[in-house]
Amino acid sequence: MKSQLCNFCLKSGILCSKCQAKVKSGEVSDTYLEIARLILSLENKYPPLQSIAFHEAVEVDGVIALVVGRGDVARLLGYGGKIIRAIGEKTGKSIRILEKAVDNRKFLEDLFAPLPVMTINTIWLPDGTTETRVILKKRGRRPPPMNIEAMKKIAKAVRNIVLRVEFSR
Ligand SMILES: [Zn+2]
Repeated sequence: MKSQLCNFCLKSGILCSKCQAKVKSGEVSDTYLEIARLILSLENKYPPLQSIAFHEAVEVDGVIALVVGRGDVARLLGYGGKIIRAIGEKTGKSIRILEKAVDNRKFLEDLFAPLPVMTINTIWLPDGTTETRVILKKRGRRPPPMNIEAMKKIAKAVRNIVLRVEFSR
């Protein structure tokens, strides 16, 4: 795994001065540190983790979004979801995996998976700002399988977009 911290420091648990500075300044959060150590400890069991890039961990309302490199969502969701379950159990949070530097559609599809994204468009507000409207396909009468308000906050924190979420009938 490529992360903001040295693999050596993550493995030993003793941080070098560079890594220490990143944690102290808040550039790297405690959540990030915890999950980076966890992913590294799972590399032997799940070798595809060796090639992922771990950019960021954003925690909102009991949900942690991991921002990883392009193509890494598939690596983290492999093994029938065992990796994500392990991270979820260890942290006690619900985990979302997002990729860095992808287009809005891919970002929103990952954010709201497994709900299908039907439509995405931009709404211009009178004050010149924009909101991104996303219409999701609802599955019958069941409530959405994630906290929609938390997803909106994650979209704002990770991509600086304001979401308006609607459901198609
Ligand atoms: Zn280090």
